[in-house]
Amino acid sequence: MEQTKYPIVVIGGSIAAISFIRTLRQNQNQDKILLVYGEDRLPYKRTKINKNMVRGFDKDEFIIADENWYAENNVELLNDWATRINRESREIEFKSDRKVTFDKLLIATGSGSVVPRLAGVERDEIHNVQNASDVERLLDDSKNKRRFLIIGGGVESIETADQLVRKGKEVILVGRMLYPMQKLFPKEMIDPLEKAMLNKGMQWFPGVSISSIDKNGEVYSTKIKGESKEFDVIVACTGAVPNISLAKVSDIKSENGIVVDKWLRTSDKNILAAGDVAQHSNGIVTGLWHAAEHQGKLAALNLYEDTEAHTLPPYRLKVCVFGLYLFSAAYEKVIPGQFEMVKEEEGDVKRILYFKNGLLEACIMLNDGNRAKQYQQALMEHWDKEKVFKEMPIKPALSFSFGTSV
Ligand SMILES: Cc1cc2nc3c(=O)[nH]c(=O)nc-3n(C[C@H](O)[C@H](O)[C@H](O)COP(=O)(O)OP(=O)(O)OC[C@H]3O[C@@H](n4cnc5c(N)ncnc54)[C@H](O)[C@@H]3O)c2cc1C
Repeated sequence: MEQTKYPIVVIGGSIAAISFIRTLRQNQNQDKILLVYGEDRLPYKRTKINKNMVRGFDKDEFIIADENWYAENNVELLNDWATRINRESREIEFKSDRKVTFDKLLIATGSGSVVPRLAGVERDEIHNVQNASDVERLLDDSKNKRRFLIIGGGVESIETADQLVRKGKEVILVGRMLYPMQKLFPKEMIDPLEKAMLNKGMQWFPGVSISSIDKNGEVYSTKIKGESKEFDVIVACTGAVPNISLAKVSDIKSENGIVVDKWLRTSDKNILAAGDVAQHSNGIVTGLWHAAEHQGKLAALNLYEDTEAHTLPPYRLKVCVFGLYLFSAAYEKVIPGQFEMVKEEEGDVKRILYFKNGLLEACIMLNDGNRAKQYQQALMEHWDKEKVFKEMPIKPALSFSFGTSV
């Protein structure tokens, strides 16, 4: 490493970081950038890793950009772990004892999985799917295993269960919530999913919290709702929390995430934060790929002057599992009584549209994946009711073609 002082440093290699760099270059900034990434591979599409367990994947298969892209964009890569930022001297310390200084810094350290403490098993016996290497380890360790316990009822649990079932594995899923993905969908939208999971032979236990596991040789067991269940592999998808330890030791204001203003500036004006690690107004931490990408872009635009404020646009989450397509956007914003709710159903398509002052603010949809982009557009542009029902009726208008040939 020849240079130790950089005009711009980015810590945490994922989509917020890449989007930040891409936007700077699109806006003619040519300053040298140091990108610090902490995993065993170049930044990659994290969203893909637990959705491709059936076939597996090559180490570099999901990388967002290859080494040439970084070189062409005057980005120096550093595979290391940032341990502390000295804000006075603008110096960053690393696990490797290396030190660099910066003029401007983006913290894009994302989030990390919460691994539950379970009496009777060591931490490394509990798998998770946060990083590509975690999924690889899970696939490797479970090659000859048949029965899986998945703890957690969120999106990653359901997607992982779907993949394992498709691999012919037996899956027991337990979650504290009353039904899967409770934070993202009302119960009525999840009923078809629960049915589909059970039809595939999965066992699903809501309202269950596991605190201990017994071990007999290679076989694990625990009591679920009074009944002893045996399994060979434990997977915990029990949520993720923003990686704020670096900010904390560096005296950068953080609560649930690193506190940022609408320009994505932290409590230090030369340090911005974007993506899963950032905490926005009303304490919101986003946790979505496209939201992190958007914030990376805004951080670049606001690096030197306030250019574009962050307004928390309603990015969606889509989940394709057990033969169903589920879509949820801005559901967490919905406060009962303050939104007009329109429920519609046509065949196996269901949707709930939430309007405020006549404008579309949130939406839940099942099995209308072909029009997902249109739903996203309608939300982003806050279409009014008339436009929503005209442009996107629950039953799409049939298109006829009266050709002359027979
Ligand atoms: C299995 C899985 C599936 C998902 N599927 C979806 C989906 O379908 N749709 C969706 O919208 N979202 C999905 N998400 C969420 C989405 O991946 C995240 O919102 C997104 O990746 C956040 O990007 P980010 O740039 O904030 O950081 P992250 O992707 O969290 O990456 C942060 C990086 O910073 C590194 N880092 C942390 N601290 C340091 C340090 N001190 N020094 C160096 N490096 C450090 C981390 O190791 C990590 O590599 C999924 C998440 C997971 C885990």
